[in-house]
Amino acid sequence: MESRDTQSTDSGETEQSLGFTLEPEEIDEIAEHLQGCPPCLEFIESLKTTVQMCKDIGTTERPAPLDPATHQRLLSAYQAMRSGKSPTAAKQD
Ligand SMILES: [Zn+2]
Repeated sequence: MESRDTQSTDSGETEQSLGFTLEPEEIDEIAEHLQGCPPCLEFIESLKTTVQMCKDIGTTERPAPLDPATHQRLLSAYQAMRSGKSPTAAKQD
């Protein structure tokens, strides 16, 4: 792994990168949930990877909105989390 030219992006990076913000209580809720939910952790990691890839490309434009499938997956994960269920446990007919 090469060392990158890291600029000072240590504050607010996640909010800027993802293009939306979360309430503090939502962040707590999510953080707590992630401790016991590998599928969500994996999803977040893939999201981070995608964000990093976008940065590596070096675009200065705002990223396009999430594609509908990814957006739906994120929403589903969030809704499942709020109802206390794992998204992988949700029934899909
Ligand atoms: Zn989860």
